[in-house]
Amino acid sequence: MNSFAGPVGGAAPIIADKAPMIDPFGRAVTYLRVSVTDRCDFRCTYCMAENMTFLPKKDLLTLEELNRLCSAFISKGVRKIRLTGGEPLVRKNIMFLVRELGQHVKAGALDELTLTTNGSQLAKYADELYDSGVRRINVSLDTLNPEKFKAITRWGDYHKVMEGIDAAQKAGLKIKLNAVALKDFNEFEIADMLRFAHGRGMDMTVIETMPMGEIDEDRTDQYLPLSKLRADLEEQFTLTEIPYKTGGPARYVEVQETGGRLGFITPMTHNFCESCNRVRLTCTGTLYMCLGQNDAADLRTALRASENDDYLSAAIDEAITRKPKGHDFIIDRTHKRPAVARHMSVTGG
Ligand code: SAM
Repeated sequence: MNSFAGPVGGAAPIIADKAPMIDPFGRAVTYLRVSVTDRCDFRCTYCMAENMTFLPKKDLLTLEELNRLCSAFISKGVRKIRLTGGEPLVRKNIMFLVRELGQHVKAGALDELTLTTNGSQLAKYADELYDSGVRRINVSLDTLNPEKFKAITRWGDYHKVMEGIDAAQKAGLKIKLNAVALKDFNEFEIADMLRFAHGRGMDMTVIETMPMGEIDEDRTDQYLPLSKLRADLEEQFTLTEIPYKTGGPARYVEVQETGGRLGFITPMTHNFCESCNRVRLTCTGTLYMCLGQNDAADLRTALRASENDDYLSAAIDEAITRKPKGHDFIIDRTHKRPAVARHMSVTGG
């Protein structure tokens, strides 16, 4: 039975079902990623086209509705929530949702509330994030060179992001830097980025670019298999596999020379779906059970059908029965079209 314990506004603790949601392949679904907006203040070339059409604002769930949806997932066994986007910190009044969800962390119903951000708004929000119960965040950064940063993000300001990182560390937030590995762009810069991250006490993760959504460029030109990057790094660093896990898809090594951790997210060269514990909610209330498949469930209708959560709970249960075994991304010259039409900004990273 679903034991949702009422509205969250006043920190009413939610008692999770004893059994977590289990998909048809026996995987427990304990991690919810929420794209709170599809809008972003950057236009990273591998992520979006420069002229994007975003959702009309009227189609978005309110932050109260997103809060109710997240709370329903917590009551059904979700232990970790990541806010993402688009850029989560550009959604108006986003700190309302962060504070509400932070109550679940404080009440022990959620192990972790975190977010993935491009860092542009961190200087403004770092202290409030920490006060709300956020302890670790991922900051996406693909280069340490301000001109290259401008070229890859099109609209981003490198110095603002650096100020954001400074502010976040000062506020006590642990940071993991995420870099998408891009051929002929940051391929030979990753070693310096690693030294920078580890020198500042940050973990770092490198990610393979995925064929999601039409962009203005050819993904074959951008794609860099991490097996190649790793082999290059091993000429300079001693990398030792470690069992460290953060609940996400990265596999970690320890870098002997820096004493820090480096994660590899390899959706292309090493499919990690067998251990997938995640589902992804968009800002319109659509639930994707896999980042790389089109099948989805409409939770908005169930959410709005009733003030109690019975329909919603049933719709979530039904969606979990449809969680697929995995994705099958391919990037090569014969596969010109993206594996899924939606951009990463719809479901978040
Ligand atoms: N705006 C936030 C940010 O920059 O982190 C959150 C959303 S962004 C879509 C999340 C992550 O997805 C970023 O690290 C970004 O670099 C990555 N990303 C975007 N498109 C990608 C793609 N096609 N393949 C791999 N990673 C991608």
